[in-house]
Amino acid sequence: MLAFGHNSIGALIGLSTFTLLPDSTPLTARISLAVCASFISHYLTDRIPHGHYEFSPARLTKKMALLFLLDFGGSMIVLTLCAYMKFGISAQLFVIMACMWAAQLPDIFEGFVSAGVIPFSRLVRIHRNFHFYTMHAKTPHNLLLPDGESRKWSESDVWQIACFLGAIAAIWVG
Ligand SMILES: [Zn+2]
Ligand SMILES: [Zn+2]
Repeated sequence: MLAFGHNSIGALIGLSTFTLLPDSTPLTARISLAVCASFISHYLTDRIPHGHYEFSPARLTKKMALLFLLDFGGSMIVLTLCAYMKFGISAQLFVIMACMWAAQLPDIFEGFVSAGVIPFSRLVRIHRNFHFYTMHAKTPHNLLLPDGESRKWSESDVWQIACFLGAIAAIWVG
């Protein structure tokens, strides 16, 4: 999935821990649940067939860097601004932001591995196999991975845009 898809799902999970859980839920429980669920959501939503764009932290072109910045940072800024306008400086804002980062964590981790910042250990390989193959929809996670056919971003990925707009609408409704 693209970064804005994961950001949207994370934001929705963060929001739902306020709208769905009883008011008496302690904030620490709300935060723990929201962050864990957002982290797990990454692997689960990667199972939904989706397209990719060509992106490798190791071989980053200017155009790809810009696209990625817009995808990752742009969507995060928009959703954070929406949460700020709706809730102000509040627990909701903090949890929604934390959930977006948690929902991105597996890909951020892989990015650091691909860029050589995190060394490629046995544990890293086990995680990568789980993330990119066991949990990922048929096609590999990264277009630049050598094995297998990978699907490029296409009109069939419009559902990710729906997630993004849905997250904005849900925050707005509160
Ligand atoms: Zn992923
Ligand atoms: Zn993918």
